[in-house]
Amino acid sequence: MSVSRRKFIQCSCGVGCLYMSGLTGSLLAKLPGQNREQLIEARYYEKLPHRKIRCLLCPRECVIDDLERGYCGVRENRGGTYYSLVYGKPVSMHIDPIEKKPLFHFLPGSEAFSIATVGCNVLCKFCQNWEISQARPEQVPAADEPPEKIARAAQVNRCASIAYTYNEPVIFAEYMYDIAEIANSLSVHSVMITNGYINAKPMRDLCRVLRAVKIDLKAFTERFYRELVAGELKPVLDTLILLKSEGMWTEIVYLVIPGQNDDRKELTDLSRWIMKELGPDTPVHFTRFHPMYRLTNLPSTPIATLQMARNIALDAGIHYVYTGNVPGDPGENTYCPHCRKMLIQRIGYHIVRNEIKNNQCPYCNTKIAGIWQ
Ligand code: SF4
Repeated sequence: MSVSRRKFIQCSCGVGCLYMSGLTGSLLAKLPGQNREQLIEARYYEKLPHRKIRCLLCPRECVIDDLERGYCGVRENRGGTYYSLVYGKPVSMHIDPIEKKPLFHFLPGSEAFSIATVGCNVLCKFCQNWEISQARPEQVPAADEPPEKIARAAQVNRCASIAYTYNEPVIFAEYMYDIAEIANSLSVHSVMITNGYINAKPMRDLCRVLRAVKIDLKAFTERFYRELVAGELKPVLDTLILLKSEGMWTEIVYLVIPGQNDDRKELTDLSRWIMKELGPDTPVHFTRFHPMYRLTNLPSTPIATLQMARNIALDAGIHYVYTGNVPGDPGENTYCPHCRKMLIQRIGYHIVRNEIKNNQCPYCNTKIAGIWQ
């Protein structure tokens, strides 16, 4: 079967994953497989009396009895030892343009070998990938792919990076770390596409092997996080500050949902917080919501609302502010923050032209923040 590289690599799940390409299928088959029963011990937990454990990976810090699982459903206590049930068990693998993540200031025009397992540590009522994010390992057939096979597949397919994406990679942190460490030795970068709901210690550890992070900042109110995400805002803001302190290249995506997180004051507060805590060079993407999953009662975001959000952020002083999920909108392009000339023109995930040279605007020599080569 002939399949475009961009469309599909290999997977076993039902989320846009329909067949296996000969290219990567044969590539993966050359390397030794993993014993399906082999479980990897989790790296972030503490043992408690009576064979209980406390998971220390994300801010939920679930306390878990023997033979029980945490909230995310992919980590299990067996006799007082905690295990990952998704290590080496991807359910989805694609090659995507890096612009799809979206990361606009990280190797534009390059491709990212993108993988996911099942599971998530929050429950967004607007999740695009709920079939895998809200599933348990028993519910979705998975491949057996040890870290070295993923890293090697990305290299052979000439992907500049591996993206941990589609579901929440926090819940497969050990697998992500091990893949990224091997990939680094093969000169393949790693980028984490995450909700940022993670404790400081594992995030700091991951910073040693990642090159860029995209944070889905879902709103700027605890009310929204409580009612629509089943999570908390504060730990996500803490993660953004931590990433800044670690010097990690970070971009923010804010999905604008009508009537829920599109208030002018909320967007103003958000923009001021970014300016104060992260500075003007953190790109912010305001993306368009479409009704899905448990929020089918709401309309799609009006384009005027996205443009309002973008203007608020630009007025606050943020240098690089984008509109997303609106192909052809001028807000998809990168402009020099000093002379305002267009430097990268995009249509959707496609780069029409890129004029950035030596990390600079060719018109006024202003340095453009990002990782360009
Ligand atoms: S990673 Fe999973 S088990 Fe651990 S604290 Fe978070 S939700 Fe609970």
